[in-house]
Amino acid sequence: MKSADIRQAFLSFFEQQGHTIVPSSSLVPGNDPTLLFTNAGMVPFKDVFLGRDPRPYVRATSAQRCVRAGGKHNDLDNVGYTARHHTFFEMLGNFSFGDYFKRDAIEFAWTFLTQTLGLPKEKLWVTVHVSDDEAERIWKDEIGIDPERFSKLDEDNFWQMGDTGPCGPSSEIFFDHGPEVWGGPPGSADEDGDRYIEIWNLVFMQFDRDAQGTLNPLPKPSIDTGMGLERVAAVMQGVHSNYEIDLFQNLLQAAAQATGHADTATPSLRVIADHIRSCAFLIADGVLPSNEGRGYVLRRIIRRAIRHGHKLGATDPFFHKLVDALDAEMGDAYPELRETREQIARVLLKEEEQFARTLDHGMTLLEAVLAELGSDVLPGETVFKLYDTYGFPFDLTADVCRERGVTLDEAGFQRELEAQRERARAASQFGADYSAALELEGETHFSGYELLEDDATVA
Ligand code: ATP
Ligand code: MG
Ligand code: MG
Ligand code: MG
Repeated sequence: MKSADIRQAFLSFFEQQGHTIVPSSSLVPGNDPTLLFTNAGMVPFKDVFLGRDPRPYVRATSAQRCVRAGGKHNDLDNVGYTARHHTFFEMLGNFSFGDYFKRDAIEFAWTFLTQTLGLPKEKLWVTVHVSDDEAERIWKDEIGIDPERFSKLDEDNFWQMGDTGPCGPSSEIFFDHGPEVWGGPPGSADEDGDRYIEIWNLVFMQFDRDAQGTLNPLPKPSIDTGMGLERVAAVMQGVHSNYEIDLFQNLLQAAAQATGHADTATPSLRVIADHIRSCAFLIADGVLPSNEGRGYVLRRIIRRAIRHGHKLGATDPFFHKLVDALDAEMGDAYPELRETREQIARVLLKEEEQFARTLDHGMTLLEAVLAELGSDVLPGETVFKLYDTYGFPFDLTADVCRERGVTLDEAGFQRELEAQRERARAASQFGADYSAALELEGETHFSGYELLEDDATVA
């Protein structure tokens, strides 16, 4: 089953169950200045859950483009290292706004997986929140899940979009890729492996978390689910890695051609094939590379892709050449991508040309320092120099270091940053640091510096 057919089968299944098909929204959340990017299918419906945005339907379904490269759900560092994480992916979802609740949500999911997709029950594992006896009873008594493949867990089973907003206990469904893949079942010490892969998350939306952390009940209990299209495609296509599915094969081929590196299983090629999707879609949605806010996150991803191409021996700009292959794979489903593809390629080429000038010098410096390093920690001053002089974002240096088993002195780096800001403040006769903050949608201050920290959401 091709990715496009799975997407269609999902939307049709839920349409038959009375859900309205809603097109994917932009990656830039229109209704939420506290959120960096749309990171889940529920984001465009946030206000509907909160009862502030009445819609003509109480059941909806969508295939939503998502980016997780900053903020609460940040998978940037996982990309290239796991078989299942992307910066950009599509989330298939079904939603109930005060209509059906746990029982139907669980039954729909089980029916779709075992009947529509025909997955064997023995390969599916299920978790619920420790406190959720109701969901446990439904799974065990009504669905008949084997208790061997069922467990109750804590943090992983409480889903939230960000530090504030709709949230609730959840139930996760995993697919067992078999003993030839390393990893343990959910809740075990080896759960981070890629054997038991989470494919679907059912969230029983019951609360709105406010800025003080208090959980306020939603007007009506609701349902939000999310299933990763690429992960299900891997299952349906009998492969163990998302990068082996139909959609990625052509992207990887294009990346191999553009970089002159033929082995498509190379992690760096996977990183490039992943990053072209997030970068192209972010630009299509109006984000441009910059030194602040969302644009800085985009720049970090582009530079990370360029560095991996460089590592494979690409000396000329290559990244922008992948836009055509991406358009061929995804342009039918996403007309906004097709319409803006020339502009996307132009933006990427410009960024490549700009960064190429300093990448060589920066890498030479970094290699020299690493070669002389007497310990396994890179000093904060070096990280800062790479950042300040060569435009190496913190996580790019971290990515190189990780390949060599070296960690970064992050505190030292932060001290250097702070010292530089002090100097800038002292030098400014106006006493205000205009370079650090950016007014975003009139409400939130983002800055590239703050984005260096794990959570980009600034209330
Ligand atoms: P994981 O535990 O594997 O990191 P998650 O619990 O963080 O996943 P959710 O927030 O529950 O993921 O998102 C719903 C679904 O979206 C997941 O069940 C998975 O199928 C998919 N998904 C989540 N993150 C990614 C990603 N970075 N790349 C591809 N698919 C993803
Ligand atoms: Mg995750
Ligand atoms: Mg999870
Ligand atoms: Mg989950």
